[in-house]
Amino acid sequence: MKQLPVLLVFSVAALSAFNPAKAADAPPKVRVLIVDGQNNHKWAATTPVITEALQRSGRFEVSVSTSPAKGQPKEAWADWNPKFEGFAVVLSNYNGELWPEPVQKAFEQYVSKGGGFVCVHAANNSFPEWLEYNRMIGLGGWGGRNEGNGPYLYRKDGAVVRDTAKGGGGGHGPQHEFTVEVLDKEHPITKGLPTKWKHATDELYHALRGPAENLSLLGVAFSSATQREEPMLMTLSYGKGRVFHTPMGHSDVSMRCAGFQTVLERGVEWAATGAVTLPVPADFPGTEEVSARQ
Ligand code: ZN
Repeated sequence: MKQLPVLLVFSVAALSAFNPAKAADAPPKVRVLIVDGQNNHKWAATTPVITEALQRSGRFEVSVSTSPAKGQPKEAWADWNPKFEGFAVVLSNYNGELWPEPVQKAFEQYVSKGGGFVCVHAANNSFPEWLEYNRMIGLGGWGGRNEGNGPYLYRKDGAVVRDTAKGGGGGHGPQHEFTVEVLDKEHPITKGLPTKWKHATDELYHALRGPAENLSLLGVAFSSATQREEPMLMTLSYGKGRVFHTPMGHSDVSMRCAGFQTVLERGVEWAATGAVTLPVPADFPGTEEVSARQ
């Protein structure tokens, strides 16, 4: 029995000697903070799917900050003060009551000073009244949004359109599988992806509108509801901060799509570091069939 620890030490030493560079060269994990706690979607079911996807990539260390539930008195919010600055990137799975002003200000400072931010699905429904948040996400829907919040942004006949027409913001038809088309094949997030791929059943958001400043449209999907190509993959800058925004991800089913998880992981890595090291996985979907993960 007493020999065992010694053997173990030798085994570890032998492994290290075999590949001495590996441990030393492994980049430190990217620290990610997921914010949830309120959503008209099942955040308690989807946050674990996001967490698992990010952790399985081996690139991230994920923490979650859950806000007070809807309808709580002001005092309940006093203790909710996420330490954004301790993380390379913040991912919002939150759609609910306006954060207390100190948290809003802390988040604005965090992103403008270079923190990463990732906005998923209904997080773009949040905070129609918070201008700086809308400048971060570029486009949003619902919550009384209208032409006063900024133009609709979509693609039609090969051109990106900023449409200042009057009307509300946000809509979707029945959930369905749909094809995502990559427009920018040189961006780190989308480099190496097939031009078109089939996304799992999801809501295809349309008629999103907002300030749409400093926004790059990396990918779109054709909406039969609007006959336009609607934004699906976007990057933005806010001060020194990088933002990745995808309106995809309605449910845990949508989020188990290997394509969704790949662009999300790569978007999170890019928002945090400005580069992408994660490869395109073998199970990335093709044009015909959805590729679902467990
Ligand atoms: Zn939804």
